[in-house]
Amino acid sequence: MVKKKYSRREFVKKNSLAGIGATLTLGMTPAFAGNTMSSSSLPAVLGGQPVRTAAWPAWPDWNTATDEERVLKSLRSGIWSRADVVTEFENKWAETVGSKRCLVTVNGTNALITALTQLDIGGGDEVIVPPYTFIATVQAVLMTGAMPVFVDTDPETFQIDPSKIEAKITSRTKAILPVHILGLPCDIVSIMAIARKHNLVVVEDACQSWLAEVNNKQTGTFGNAGCYSFQNSKNIPMGEGGGIVSDDDAFMDRCYSFHNYGNPYGAIVGEVGAGTLMLGTKLRTTEYQAAIALAQLERLDAQTTIRNANAAYLRSRITDIPGILPYRLYDNVTRAAFHLFPFRYKKEEFNGLPVRDFQRALRAEGIPNMSGYTPLNKMPYLAHAFQTKNFRLMYSSDRLDYNNYLENNQCPMNDQLCEEAVWLFHNLLIAGKSDMDDIANAIEKIHKSAGRIKNQA
Ligand SMILES: *Cc1c(COP(=O)(O)O)cnc(C)c1O
Repeated sequence: MVKKKYSRREFVKKNSLAGIGATLTLGMTPAFAGNTMSSSSLPAVLGGQPVRTAAWPAWPDWNTATDEERVLKSLRSGIWSRADVVTEFENKWAETVGSKRCLVTVNGTNALITALTQLDIGGGDEVIVPPYTFIATVQAVLMTGAMPVFVDTDPETFQIDPSKIEAKITSRTKAILPVHILGLPCDIVSIMAIARKHNLVVVEDACQSWLAEVNNKQTGTFGNAGCYSFQNSKNIPMGEGGGIVSDDDAFMDRCYSFHNYGNPYGAIVGEVGAGTLMLGTKLRTTEYQAAIALAQLERLDAQTTIRNANAAYLRSRITDIPGILPYRLYDNVTRAAFHLFPFRYKKEEFNGLPVRDFQRALRAEGIPNMSGYTPLNKMPYLAHAFQTKNFRLMYSSDRLDYNNYLENNQCPMNDQLCEEAVWLFHNLLIAGKSDMDDIANAIEKIHKSAGRIKNQA
């Protein structure tokens, strides 16, 4: 049997190029001719009828009639570098999330790097991060020269476990970088309390949690800064793009300068000789990308409402299936973003059917799914970072002892979560309520036949 684990990128590519699962069921039917199971109860992975053959909503969502006018206007104007459209999107985004200011950057990764460096995080500092996140979160910390310190995940919520943060705080800890991963808010209220107690900076990675709320206040607006991604796969995509929000004018002015060669805030883009104030780089995005984002922003709120309703319904439908443990939201969550819909899979309740085989069977039923993150606290990029020239200059060899580092950054709960997690991508959640029934029915169907799939797949 071919076992193949799809990365999100491969998944999205496959999903957009061909029908999901179409190739997985080929050539299997004859072996089961004369089977007593009806074709609809026979698992599709064994040649039965898939629960679903209809397509899922495409992503990104694009409506030629309503979305293209302002993009074309921007293209035809010949003004492609940062100008009025980027500013318009920044103002709208700040207003949408309830923050005073927003700066748009080339991507979410550089939004994080900008926010961290402009809050004076750098060489020698320790930054607390979760291991269950997209790689960009941790790379951003390393790019500033700071040292990531991993705090284990709460497997029920998929979020950083706030009860384990304080044990990791040292005299060198400067910041906490909580992530609202999968678009489910982390326990930001507890994290802010810890940060205040220990005088730490908080940069929220809200790169998957647009419009999500805790106590009716949006994620990304609790910390010193909040960072967003508008990359192609995200719930508000513009191709590549990111944003920083904050109420702190002086900080936002520095972020602006950093993203525009260190020139003063308000200096005209492209103006030569305005007097460069500080170290900077160039992270400006283009006008036509901002025009795409403005079009996407029009539907984000309505789609977020649909994702929340469908996720709640789907959760209620699958929560009693033995071996399926859907995410838990913290009690203070008033809205989630649902970039992904996650659940844990316990193979003991599926006759020992391995999770990857469960996923294949689910795909064969017409339900695309992904396996999610691998543990970021023990991957080769960390060893490489420690070997770079800058790290060797900034840290003692003691602090760069990789084995020691691995030992101090173990996250056993997260290791297990990575083995058990299954994700559904957010495009499934903007379908109809009856489409959620397809997902639940497919999981139930596989549950009933798990032993048979295990023996015959
Ligand atoms: C997407 C993402 C980022 C990085 O954003 P890019 O725009 O891809 O650079 C950072 N953190 C998380 C959690 C993300 O999902």
